[in-house]
Amino acid sequence: MTSLDAFAESKLAQLEQQALRRALTMTTRTDGAIIRRGGRQFISFSCNDYLGLSLHPQVKAAAIAAIETYGTGAGASRLVTGDHPLLIELEARLAKLKHAEAARVFGSGYLTNLGVIPALAGEGDLILADALSHACIFGGSRLSPATLLTFRHNDAGHAAEILKAERGKYRNALLVTETVFSMDGDRAPLSALAEICAARDTWLMTDDAHGLGVLEASDVRAPLQMGTLSKVLGSYGGYLCASRPVVDLMTSRARTLVYSTGLPPAAAAAAIAALDIIAADPALCARPLAKARAFTQRLGLPEAQSPIVPLVLGGAEAALEASKLLQDEGFLVIAIRPPTVPEGSARLRFAFSAAHDDADVARLADVVAARLDIRAQA
Ligand SMILES: *Cc1c(COP(=O)(O)O)cnc(C)c1O
Repeated sequence: MTSLDAFAESKLAQLEQQALRRALTMTTRTDGAIIRRGGRQFISFSCNDYLGLSLHPQVKAAAIAAIETYGTGAGASRLVTGDHPLLIELEARLAKLKHAEAARVFGSGYLTNLGVIPALAGEGDLILADALSHACIFGGSRLSPATLLTFRHNDAGHAAEILKAERGKYRNALLVTETVFSMDGDRAPLSALAEICAARDTWLMTDDAHGLGVLEASDVRAPLQMGTLSKVLGSYGGYLCASRPVVDLMTSRARTLVYSTGLPPAAAAAAIAALDIIAADPALCARPLAKARAFTQRLGLPEAQSPIVPLVLGGAEAALEASKLLQDEGFLVIAIRPPTVPEGSARLRFAFSAAHDDADVARLADVVAARLDIRAQA
């Protein structure tokens, strides 16, 4: 065996032993929340396509039309020859939606955070992030020479204490949080964070990957609002909405924008069509949260704050075991393990969609009540 393969094998053995090895499973989804894998059919509660828009006829037609007209790829970085009219239209739409002066789209949400954060925070600056922030917020922060500190999850008081003690040591400061936490489903105290940031000349950046289109937008308008086109919009890509000068700075300095190929025209067309549907159908947008609330109510859990409901089980093995039990009942609910979530907080993560039948949600809750130990959650 080569030393390279020996290295990979030993790492894998270690992961296997901790129940942390991950594997890919071929899965297809052609109809709402129904997915097929391994010759079986499941109702999926693990998909972030909360409104089912990736399969919406209008969204698919828009993507197909864009391909017919413009082909499949952007051909180059937007700064070279990849700046497509559909991207410009999409950015205008996103900026308007977020009440911002301008927007810039990126290759993905992950690439947005990897590009934006180091373009804003450098040597001598402070990045203060919620401790449970998404991996790409930490990934972007690590690409910057700025000092990275974290505050306790959703604890605005702790963030204030840290800024009080530390802010003076740094030139600029950036505070980053998710609006809706991807693995916990809870919502950030945005007004309190905005106040703290205003008091200490700190720039507030929000990651709205799981909020757009499924929750009422907060009144708080952070000066830096990023998100993804890949979840509720059913497409692919990421965005930053901000002031004109900030967006212009990204065009020159965000490396994941400058050195990466522009989004395919079909991704932009699909996202625009999805934004049209969201604007026209508030009843559709309200359904995922209503279903999550029906689920938490039936189980006597704290009321869902978003379409994401976690069931923390502790060990990675317990989470995998629980996921298997639900699969036996026809439900796909993926186990989320470290390092996606902190050690000892492996969980099932239920994501509710407009495509779910109320009867299926009720049956899922009854199966969870009958087969899993949920006492720790209440
Ligand atoms: C999914 C997610 C991202 C990454 O977005 P992609 O478009 O999937 O790369 C960023 N932040 C949060 C909070 C997410 O949940």
